[in-house]
Amino acid sequence: MQANLNTGAGEKAEPTLGQSCPSDVLEGRSGWASCFRNDGQFPIRIDPNAIQTLAANVLQKGADTTQYASMLFDQVVAHETGHKLALPHHTRVATLSPLSKAKNLDRSLLFGDFFQRHSWQLDIEEVVYKLLATQGFKPRTRLEDQPPVGCGGLSYQRPYGAPTLPGLDARQIADFAQPPQWPILYGVSPPKMMSQIGILSQDGTIMSHTPRLDYTTDSQWSFQGSDLAGMCLLPSGCGTQPPEEPTCQ
Ligand SMILES: [Zn+2]
Repeated sequence: MQANLNTGAGEKAEPTLGQSCPSDVLEGRSGWASCFRNDGQFPIRIDPNAIQTLAANVLQKGADTTQYASMLFDQVVAHETGHKLALPHHTRVATLSPLSKAKNLDRSLLFGDFFQRHSWQLDIEEVVYKLLATQGFKPRTRLEDQPPVGCGGLSYQRPYGAPTLPGLDARQIADFAQPPQWPILYGVSPPKMMSQIGILSQDGTIMSHTPRLDYTTDSQWSFQGSDLAGMCLLPSGCGTQPPEEPTCQ
């Protein structure tokens, strides 16, 4: 589990909070299946220092991070245990919308869809959770959905479609948009034509790739119903293949 956090203009931190298998075990390689099976091959690893650092980064300066970090620890343990019981990350597919006009794209872009302006430029509607100062978080901190994965990397991302105000950078402009979602413009490098993009989605439940940081108590967390039904206790697996991370098609 990683936390994809924008803490300031152009500043991004992605601490790894927990893992269900070693970092050098990659998708499709030897051992990958054991990352998603209760077979005793790899221990779950939780990084309490990364959790503590994250808590200190998002909470207001001087706040007691103990309770919040403890809640995050519980959530990461549940998430990694979910992987061991065969659960993948939640994903969604962004479907390509026809590009019919060059201006005002944001007015017709629907959540889950994307426009491809050029082979290297994508407009995607993304989820952005805003951490509110009234809840004890630092002001002007946003937690973003994961960008497309497996598409060759992203060169930049910035919100668009929000009011253009002189003297404000993209992050500040985004603050005028209404959470939890607004369009984000992605640059993709190297150029690649895509008909479908798999995106790690952030629905606020335990098996999302990134934790929903504006939750502050254990009682706010839950597995998705389908995750509860899909858990597998057998060391040999339950007839399902280990999950793949989303890839470009
Ligand atoms: Zn995970």
